[in-house]
Parts: sequence; structure tokens; C-alpha cells
Amino acid sequence: MQIKSFVPAVITLLYLLSSCSSEDKDSIESRHSNLKGEFIYRKHNEYLFHHKPPILAERASYPWEEGSYGVHSKITKEFFRCKGSGLNPVRLLQKEKETLRFYDCGGTQRHSLPLRDQKEFIYPILIDLMNYLQNKTGQRVVITCGHSCIDHNLYLDSSPANQASKHLIGAEVDFYIQGIEHQPEKNVEMIIKYYQENPKYKGQKEYEQFVRYEKGDSQISTKPWYNKEIFIKLYRKNEGRDFDNRHPYPYVSIQVRYDWDLKEKVSYSWEKAFHNLHRW
Ligand SMILES: [Zn+2]
Repeated sequence: MQIKSFVPAVITLLYLLSSCSSEDKDSIESRHSNLKGEFIYRKHNEYLFHHKPPILAERASYPWEEGSYGVHSKITKEFFRCKGSGLNPVRLLQKEKETLRFYDCGGTQRHSLPLRDQKEFIYPILIDLMNYLQNKTGQRVVITCGHSCIDHNLYLDSSPANQASKHLIGAEVDFYIQGIEHQPEKNVEMIIKYYQENPKYKGQKEYEQFVRYEKGDSQISTKPWYNKEIFIKLYRKNEGRDFDNRHPYPYVSIQVRYDWDLKEKVSYSWEKAFHNLHRW
């Protein structure tokens, strides 16, 4: 049965193939007979089309480049988030016969920035100053510590003096500037200039003029500077080292003393540090 049906199929196939090839031959011949044309000769410097030289178009800027932020991203409150991490190892501290254990917080995955009017809040003067320095120098400002929650602050430095740190309420920042890491005095000079150049502070001596802090309780070798709004500390290479400031550079810390918007003194409180943020 199978052989009987196979044979006619093969015959049909052979017929189709032979008919196709004969048709192809005819069509090729007819096409060749219609061909007319001439050779085209071209010299090496002759072109059919003349191209205008390309014009270099300027690249459209990315959103983070808009404004006068140069090649570096605009600094926002995001840069100030708590640097804590649940992956950091437990820190042990031997106190007399007792061993104290400090655990780091879960960082941004576990809590927000401090809140004001139910929104995350960092004192705007700190953000403005960081952007000013970045624009002025054209170098990246590296924020090593912005906001610290209670747990992270304790993990960094459990000494009693640090427990009322303004990092806890979003009113302090530690930073250095890439490229001029070893000239922290320049940062201070530029910050003072910011107050002298800014029309917001024009004619207000308590902002334009900085005073040196003479008391010996600052625990650093350089006398701090302050005006009405901020307090500037300069930490040398061997000073102020904590978990967030493990880098080998000197750095500058700015604390907010006076709230420009609310017209009141800025001070640490347990309420602001502990209760004034979202946890999840
Ligand atoms: Zn934290």
C-alpha cells in the first residue's frame, strides 16, 4: 500500500521541477535581451551627491544637569540619609568589667529623615551650602554624615558629648571636597564668602561676619567659626574619626544654630531625635 502511493508522488514532483527550470530559462533570456546601458566611469574626486559637512549638535542636558550644577549631581536631602546598615558588625566597647555591644540601625530601609510638617526635612541652609561649594569648586562634595538616627549615632560614638548631636535632627553635616581634600580651610573661606555674596544676608552683620569660638571645649585643635546661623568645625586628619568618617582626609562639619524660617534657635531634643521620624 505504501509503495503504491509513493511512486505517483515522486513522478508529480519530478514533473514540477522540470517545468520550473524550463520557465526560468525563458525568463532569464528575455530579461537579458531587454538590457540596455552604458558603463559609468568616475574619477576619484567625483561624487554623485555633495554632502554638507556635519554640524556638531549640542547634547540635550539630563534633568540632574539642569541649572548650574556642572558635571556633578545637584545635592538634595537624599544625600543626607542615615548611613547606618544592618550589615555593619556589632561594635564592642570594654567599659571597666563590662563589655558593651552597639548594633547599627537598618539605615534607609528602616527609617526616614527627620520630619517637618509631615515631610522629610533637612535644614535648607546645609543643602544650599553643599551646592554652593560644589558649583564654586567644580569638584564633588562628599557628604560623609548627614542625618544620623539614634541607633546609628550611638554606634558611631557612644560618648555622652555626642548624644545631643545635631546630626540627630538633620541640622548637621560632615563633608570633604574631592580634589581639595587636604585644604579644608578653603571650604571655610568659601562658606564665609557665601554669606558675604548672598543678597539674602546683605547688610546683616550677624550673618556676614564670622567669629572664632574661643572656648576650649570643642575637642579639636582648630578654633571653630560661627555666625548667627551656623557653626563650623574643622577636623584634622587625626581628629573626629568615627565609623562614618573613616576616610584619611581632614573634614569640615557645619551645625545649624539658627532657623531662618522659624526665626528660632536650633537645638537638639529627644523628642525631635527619637519620635520625629517614620520607622518601618
Ligand atoms: Zn539610622
